[in-house]
Amino acid sequence: MKSPGPDGKPTQQQAETRLVTAGRDPKAQKGFVNPAVFHGSTVLYPTADDLHAHRAEYTYGRHGSPTTRALQDVMMALEGPQCAGVGLAPSGLAAISTTLLSVTKAGDHVLVCDNAYRPTRNFCNGVLSRYGVETTYFDPAIGAAIEKLFKPTTRAVLVEAPGSQSFEMPDIPAIAEVAHARGALVIDDNTWATPLFHRSLDLGVDISMQAATKYIGGHSDIMFGTISANARAWPMITETIRLLGVCAGPDDVYLALRGTRTLAVRLAQHHRSGLEMARWLAARPEVARVLHPGLESDPGHAIWKRDFTGASGLFSIVLKPVPQKAVDALLDTVDLFGMGFSWGGFESLIIPFDCEGYRTATKWSPGGPTLRLHIGLENVDDLKADLDRGFAALKAAQ
Ligand SMILES: *Cc1c(COP(=O)(O)O)cnc(C)c1O
Repeated sequence: MKSPGPDGKPTQQQAETRLVTAGRDPKAQKGFVNPAVFHGSTVLYPTADDLHAHRAEYTYGRHGSPTTRALQDVMMALEGPQCAGVGLAPSGLAAISTTLLSVTKAGDHVLVCDNAYRPTRNFCNGVLSRYGVETTYFDPAIGAAIEKLFKPTTRAVLVEAPGSQSFEMPDIPAIAEVAHARGALVIDDNTWATPLFHRSLDLGVDISMQAATKYIGGHSDIMFGTISANARAWPMITETIRLLGVCAGPDDVYLALRGTRTLAVRLAQHHRSGLEMARWLAARPEVARVLHPGLESDPGHAIWKRDFTGASGLFSIVLKPVPQKAVDALLDTVDLFGMGFSWGGFESLIIPFDCEGYRTATKWSPGGPTLRLHIGLENVDDLKADLDRGFAALKAAQ
């Protein structure tokens, strides 16, 4: 992360540079730029003495390899100086469940924002509850008023900034201040912005996790998760990873590592194209509202400007009321926008969603059909032309 400056003193390089330089050791790789993909379970010890003393850089496949170390080093460099360690998991959801199991025990209480990823809620309601951990959901706009929801047993607050369907922006520094005063940890699902655009560990978050399936992988070809923790939280995370046996397959580790090398250019393009498409959609007569914190009109814009250095390519729109068959006609007409779950790859996606059925702390009533779009790396004029055809089909089907 640090390299000598002109005066010989270490300087902090910019994030784009760190993404290229971190986690590389060409000498150890016989000159090759990238590390090998270590497929391995057994690691051999040279002598009985080494074996008895557990003296080895690597001890067992589950506990890491030079390939996993390279990815962990890149993520550490990206998160910044607050990051004390990075855990790797076989999916984003596994990163969330491992994190929540790390910080709770029977009798504890956690606070989870009402716009959290739905499978996160399912884990809290379906698994944590079985082990005697209670969950209270809160309005993402709550800010410092979250104080009134704290109990003596509250161990953690989980936020998602912004929520990946409805895009409300929680005030993380305000929430973190209250949580820390009460001795609780703050967990941030930082998948939308990645640590490149949102250094959440610098803003008071203790554990920042990624569904690396999305932008870190970046090519819709892996399931992966990462857990970055500060010095306070890392011992809990690393212990639980060991006890649970959480690890990821070497080929996926390698693809996640490869994704990090181009993250800065990909995200810069998702940011530009996403904002351009969001503005274009906001001006369409068929669209009632665009949910994108990067737009000046968005209720979360001030927080986004303060706490983020960019936006990704994911946002939602609320259509003016039309029958479902008209929405379906749009979906069946667009061609560049594929219909499917997940996001963060190079390709554009569109999917209908509805938060109404599962929210408990806030009421979701957008007033019209809702669609989530992922703006990929295609040319934006082609994307506009594709949606133009979709809107024409929507109109014809009313
Ligand atoms: C996709 C996603 C996850 C889960 O990641 P998987 O790799 O699909 O398990 C978690 N949080 C958010 C915000 C996501 O979008």
